[in-house]
Amino acid sequence: MSSPRTTPPQTPRRRYPLRPPQPPAQIDPALDLLDELEAKAPKRALAVFAHPDDAEFSCGGTLALLCARGWDLNVVVTTSGNKGTKDPEVTSQYLAGIREEEQRRASAILGAHEPIFLGFSDGYVHEDDELRGLLVRQIRLHRPELVITWDGFRPGFNHRDHRNTGRATYDAIYPAADDHLYYVLDKEEGLEPFRPQAMLLSGTRDADYHVDISPVARTKVRAILAHTSQIRGRTEAETIKQWEDRARAARQAGDANASPYRESFTKVLLRR
Ligand SMILES: [Zn+2]
Repeated sequence: MSSPRTTPPQTPRRRYPLRPPQPPAQIDPALDLLDELEAKAPKRALAVFAHPDDAEFSCGGTLALLCARGWDLNVVVTTSGNKGTKDPEVTSQYLAGIREEEQRRASAILGAHEPIFLGFSDGYVHEDDELRGLLVRQIRLHRPELVITWDGFRPGFNHRDHRNTGRATYDAIYPAADDHLYYVLDKEEGLEPFRPQAMLLSGTRDADYHVDISPVARTKVRAILAHTSQIRGRTEAETIKQWEDRARAARQAGDANASPYRESFTKVLLRR
């Protein structure tokens, strides 16, 4: 008599589609990116920045505009900005709490969801597998058609957290988030592979995409001023005057397009 077969217990397997059943309509690079995305895809965006206030200062107008146009916007902040003070009495822990609360207020003013903090220490963001995996998870979770982040490839002076956050986001989008064998534990949460259609890189040198933010300029200022610990008591009027003075000086120096009511990006299209 043969002994009973011993087979290892089988883990129930779930099938994850490697591709959507229908290929989505492709974005025409010759047409306006936001118009194209709105016509052809769900209006979902993810902004990934390094510190509380980065998103508002660098592209708060574009984010406010997306929300005004009915987009679903999530903001990921890789640190809690816990080194951003000159006050010798303030601890990192205390400052993190203050700055997270400021970011919550700013996100609410823009019209975004409650921000997501990854909790890295300010100044210590590494472009590594851990950060990339956390960003892959956010992409699979929120499934944004548009991701806005720092241009991590800009040469010259830059904050390392901006550079590392931008590069890790870029690498999370391609190829990791869309290939199911990367960060396989996401499957346990039912998170499926996903590839956004486009990226806009902020703080860039060779911008090729510009957004007229004049309809939401005041919303941008209010969102910036929500970062009370960072703005040294500036008022709305003072902020706008400072922007206009700076733009006037830039125009006089030869940059004919300089305007406080225009935000500029490098556009990256990702074919599916
Ligand atoms: Zn920053």
